Amino acid sequence: MPQRPGFPARLDSSSTRPAPARKAATPAVNASPRTPEGVSPDSRAVRARMVEKLAAQGVSDARVLHAMGRIERHRFVDTALMNQAYEDTSLPIGLGQTISKPNVVARMIELLLGGRNDAAGKLGRVLEIGTGCGYQAAVLSLVATEVYSIERLRGLHDKARENLRPFRLPNVHLMLGDGMVGYPKGAPYAGIISAAGGLAVPAAWTEQLAVGGRIVAPTVMPNGQQALVVMEKTAREMKQTVLEAVHFVPLKSGIA
Ligand code: SAH
Repeated sequence: MPQRPGFPARLDSSSTRPAPARKAATPAVNASPRTPEGVSPDSRAVRARMVEKLAAQGVSDARVLHAMGRIERHRFVDTALMNQAYEDTSLPIGLGQTISKPNVVARMIELLLGGRNDAAGKLGRVLEIGTGCGYQAAVLSLVATEVYSIERLRGLHDKARENLRPFRLPNVHLMLGDGMVGYPKGAPYAGIISAAGGLAVPAAWTEQLAVGGRIVAPTVMPNGQQALVVMEKTAREMKQTVLEAVHFVPLKSGIA
């Protein structure tokens, strides 16, 4: 049986607070009240259970658990799917794309952080390839100083902008473009995270990564299966570690 690690005090205390009639304003993440069917007006308790499960599955970075407990995943999916928003499942977000399972989002962000932080406990600038519905960008905004997120499909780029508006996250920057060429204006990055899997990690990403930075990206292996790859940039080389098998949508070039 996996040990149940302790949870961030802020999550525990928020789940025991009496539920306000209207959603209380939280400083950084303040979405407008909207009560989806099947999700309680105050969905913190449901998220707290999801976070407990993530911890039991091995996610241990308190910053990641805290961020996963804060961001309301149900606001990023269609009404018909809201009931499933806190289950450990990937969900369709339109245009043939999917939002990853919470477990995969948490695991990848934990790998991206790799225990690193600045004085404020945050990672520096992060580039996300594949904004999709904007959920992962929102989670990243709580653990990184700046999040540059790029999406190649205009429909999803616009949807993410809509989804993220009520959260008022000034450190999230959404771009429509081909993430295979990175985003040089925000470089160098402390971390680059991809939500789409390519045949190799594009050279632009390693070039735009700071020394000491990390890339976390699903990549197709010689056997044709995707695996999660972590790359670390040192002053001399790129160190690569291949982790577990994953199933991500393909990384594609160009804008559509
Ligand atoms: N992080 C997203 C997951 C979206 S799925 C979320 O939280 O919802 C992956 C996304 O990557 C898709 O929307 C797909 O259109 C996008 N994508 C694939 N190749 C891309 C590329 N070269 N540049 C930017 N986005 C890309």
